Amino acid sequence: MKSRHILLAGAVALALSACGNSSAPADSAAPADAAPAAEAPAAAPVEAAPAEAAPAAASTKPAVVENCATTIESNDAMQYNADSITVPASCTQFTINLKHVGTMAANVMGHNVVIAKEADMAGIAADGASNAAEHVKEGDARSIAHTKVIGGGESASVTFDVAKIKDGGYKFFCSFPGHLALMQGSIQVQ
Ligand code: ZN
Repeated sequence: MKSRHILLAGAVALALSACGNSSAPADSAAPADAAPAAEAPAAAPVEAAPAEAAPAAASTKPAVVENCATTIESNDAMQYNADSITVPASCTQFTINLKHVGTMAANVMGHNVVIAKEADMAGIAADGASNAAEHVKEGDARSIAHTKVIGGGESASVTFDVAKIKDGGYKFFCSFPGHLALMQGSIQVQ
């Protein structure tokens, strides 16, 4: 807050001095940003910090989370309607409800939600190909949690202990053959 006042004061001073000389007032806009930063170097990092933090948490389609649960939609175009799930740290357990809003059958355009470390995604999908009902190999410990595979008009849910993903680096994805590339997102506890 303090730095803003310094910046503002600098800008005002520059603006005032700009009025005093003959150059066009429009030219004063650009120098006004640079000059105060040079006068007060400490102000620059303070201003920059929030702007840098934003992209790290950036998501174009964050899932809506309520009461330690979220509903993700999937469709015939091999898409989820969310690319990020943020689980509140206050939740002990978390539920993901998956809906297939398309019309194609589970054996053609099946979807599930699997939660695993990012490095384990491809292996889980590859090994799960033989288990058509879930597309996760039975007893695969790399899967933190997963729903069954559903087709158009169907839905499925899975509930898991939030403690299992607190160390970070987890993703949610569809392990149906060929879907991983398009159907995945980050899941983090915050
Ligand atoms: Zn899928």
